[in-house]
Amino acid sequence: MLSEFDIIQRYFTRSSPGAVLGVGDDAALVKPSAEMELAISTDMLVSGQHFAGDADPRQLGYKSLAVNLSDMAAMGATPRWAMLAVALPESFVNAGGRWLEMFAEGFFGLASEHRVGLIGGDTTRGPLNICVTIIGEVAIGKALRRSGAKAGDDVWISGQLGDAALVIAHTRQQIALDPEEVSCCLPALNTPVARIALGKRLIGLAHSAIDISDGLLADLGHILEQSKVSATIEMSAIKCSAVMQRHLPHPTAISCLMAGGDDYELCFTVPIARRGDVESLSCEVEIPLTRIGSINQGGGLFVLDESGKSVEMAIRGYDHFRT
Ligand code: ADP
Ligand code: MG
Repeated sequence: MLSEFDIIQRYFTRSSPGAVLGVGDDAALVKPSAEMELAISTDMLVSGQHFAGDADPRQLGYKSLAVNLSDMAAMGATPRWAMLAVALPESFVNAGGRWLEMFAEGFFGLASEHRVGLIGGDTTRGPLNICVTIIGEVAIGKALRRSGAKAGDDVWISGQLGDAALVIAHTRQQIALDPEEVSCCLPALNTPVARIALGKRLIGLAHSAIDISDGLLADLGHILEQSKVSATIEMSAIKCSAVMQRHLPHPTAISCLMAGGDDYELCFTVPIARRGDVESLSCEVEIPLTRIGSINQGGGLFVLDESGKSVEMAIRGYDHFRT
């Protein structure tokens, strides 16, 4: 059986050139670049809550970092360093380190793509639980916030929404996907792509931004609350996959599209006058960016159907304590 220190040494100690001091001391040391401030965020993945206990360890390693990178994207920050706190069941450690090897491969594969250094963490025995803290940098005063939306902004989203939630709904037998549809939607759930390059380019263009982790309605709702504005969005303008289109307007498909979590796309608001700039940016970063509605004065989030009629949405989005 590997000891705690074997585990740290063997699987989680790599050089982290961007840090003054990495894994191995009581604390890591990092030096922010000149004129930058730090953006810091934590996201936890809990077995049975966010993933099944027998989930593919490589995908878990990838996703535990990807969801944190997504928070950096939403702030317009460049991710630099990460901390990893894990609770591991004994059986995972016993099995010759295979689980840990795969997990580390997924984690470090994505970390090196973004030149993020793992600089520390904590390792204990317990029910599988993965908690990553990410530290990024953004020019002082320039970070994208939830609170900056203004009446007269357009509401935009990146990529397409709903596929991750569609697979989850399928496994819960709330909707029936055929095997080919499942394999089309699975990457959205298991290997989401954090929109780092897009987030950085939105600085100076977007008034506000958020990543969609709990569903469009809930996350856009956070922008509205913090910015003290309202929004009207058109459901038919929301870009979605061919699989999703095939299942609309099944009520489960609608709720996956509007309120499904785990998309990790960005929702952001930009003044109308800069529509052209967003369209050019879409070509530049090679990510579809779609205008889905507008920000107005007052409060509330209004959803319209194709004919411009208001749609009542019963579901708001994912909440760990009110499901
Ligand atoms: P202490 O008991 O002094 O807090 P630990 O024994 O918990 O120290 O950790 C030793 C070193 O290993 C520290 O630098 C810590 O940040 C690092 N570390 C522990 N677990 C992990 C992990 N899962 N990933 C990366 N670094 C880790
Ligand atoms: Mg410790």
